[in-house]
Amino acid sequence: MKKIHEILENHNSDRTRLMDILWDIQNQWGYIPDEILPEMADKLGLTELDIRETYSFYHFFLGKPPAKHQIYLSDTVIARMHGYQAVYDALEQETGCIFGEKDVTDTFGLKTTSCIGLSDQEPAMLIGKEVFTRLTPEKISQIISRLKRGDSPADIVNPDGVASDTLAYINTMVESGIRSKGAVFFQNKTDFKALLNQVINTRPEVIINTVSESGLRGRGGAGFSTGLKWRLCSDNDENTRFVICNADEGEPGTFKDRVLLMESPKEVIFGMITTGHAIGAQEGIIYLRSEYYYLKDYLEKQLADFRAEGLLGKCIGGKPDFNFDVRIQMGAGAYICGDETALIESMEGKRGTPRVKPPYPVNMGYLGKPTSVNNVESFVAVTRIMEEGALWFKAMGTAESTGTRLLSISGDCDAPGIYEIEWGVTLNEVLKKAGAKDAWAVQVSGPSGDCVSVKKDGNRAIALEDLSCNGSFMVFNRSRDLLAIVKHFMQFFVNESCGICVPCRSGNVDLLKKISRVIENKACQKDIDEVVAWGKLVRKTSRCGLGGTSPKPILTTLEKFPEIYQEKLVKQIGPLLPSFDLIESQRGYLEAVATLNNRSTCS
Ligand code: SF4
Repeated sequence: MKKIHEILENHNSDRTRLMDILWDIQNQWGYIPDEILPEMADKLGLTELDIRETYSFYHFFLGKPPAKHQIYLSDTVIARMHGYQAVYDALEQETGCIFGEKDVTDTFGLKTTSCIGLSDQEPAMLIGKEVFTRLTPEKISQIISRLKRGDSPADIVNPDGVASDTLAYINTMVESGIRSKGAVFFQNKTDFKALLNQVINTRPEVIINTVSESGLRGRGGAGFSTGLKWRLCSDNDENTRFVICNADEGEPGTFKDRVLLMESPKEVIFGMITTGHAIGAQEGIIYLRSEYYYLKDYLEKQLADFRAEGLLGKCIGGKPDFNFDVRIQMGAGAYICGDETALIESMEGKRGTPRVKPPYPVNMGYLGKPTSVNNVESFVAVTRIMEEGALWFKAMGTAESTGTRLLSISGDCDAPGIYEIEWGVTLNEVLKKAGAKDAWAVQVSGPSGDCVSVKKDGNRAIALEDLSCNGSFMVFNRSRDLLAIVKHFMQFFVNESCGICVPCRSGNVDLLKKISRVIENKACQKDIDEVVAWGKLVRKTSRCGLGGTSPKPILTTLEKFPEIYQEKLVKQIGPLLPSFDLIESQRGYLEAVATLNNRSTCS
């Protein structure tokens, strides 16, 4: 067992590598013990509170000893459509403990967690780094029995002991689920050495021009021009620059990046190398969400292969002035780290709190240096553009949205999974492909996107200039309770808000309360008017994209499906809102007065 000073030394006692240090500690002790904090604080030049402040921000860092088997059940609206409650009940029954706690023998601990990137294979859960999919009460019974008999989670999912750095290992737990391929992704025919030779013998400004000409726009959601981002990043006097691959795919209902990392990891890494050459960076970092820990060894192997082949490291491709390598930075469970500045804060060993912009990462990013943060899918597209050319890419899609894009489709359809579509196809065409015969509503781009009506929006084009999409479709038929889904999304935003700014921290709580009142038949038109006004205010005044989009589940369902709200409203009689409970308020008032009286008596 390593001592704490050895772990710190392995990371040069670098406080900016606190996330790695915390993971090493947790992987060894199972949690972050209080006893080691003084030594950590001393060596890192931090206070104990600084360390606690950081690790307590992340869902998967534990400050107390966990049970032997800590189980995280993915709680998503898609899981709830596919037997989540029965699985939840079975877990409590079989383990003998309730969610949020450990059993008396400290063998099992149960927690729920936000989407773990498996919406096509829900219900799903994590036990340590192993993942279990398509759960049923019967499966839960078998898994828990084996754990009770002394088997490890790895024994159960991987009885043949397949090496953890192979795709075969990942496939023991998770399917890729690629349903349709197009011209860009999953081609697996790239000659990386030949392509490297071509790329590094092309001047950086020509590479940037090529990517600009291709029209590629970022695939993480914002749709910013990739070529322009690189130009801004390289256009300054700094000598140190960074390339970051944002693999913190946390938007519920989205799993395309997981599949790209499984099926095309080398295309992702090559896209990073190309970016490094274009902007003059020497280091690339893949920020991998901890829910995808089971991909880490496999990705490390891909990096090692590239190093062995001379595609990463020093003097790449024999060019004396091109040194570039990539490391993996594990996240630890925080949706907000999908925001590029929150991700950078996390990589610097801090809480994932979004920064005020400007300055933008292209000017002042990781460690204060110019940084290009790009999405997993964007990097694969870059590799393919290098291979086939800007005009080839631009010939696909629409004027503003060139090429193709990947969609993660889940919910009420016959074939959930990954679909490559050419930008510009209609919503109806996509639904037909996925076998969504009786679709009523589609949540496009996850909770932070739009809920659209198939009847009203079916003929709209999937494109940045019409129905923008960050890569996720959650399909609902008429049997689904849209208000319950909206409430689940709002609860998600309440849980995931970093809390630094008031509109998001408390505004989302207020919106959640309002939607709960609608569901309980305690809301009137005035509540709806307030929801619209407050929602717009939260969007406008929040610091980052989380608060900038969190009211959308309510606002877009109000716009597209007003009837589901109207049929729940009651009439307002008198000046008070129907949700105002006079008796409850009086009780609260009397309790407050009694508390104050007691205090004055004691003093
Ligand atoms: Fe944090 Fe929400 Fe403000 Fe974003 S909008 S900075 S998540 S509190």
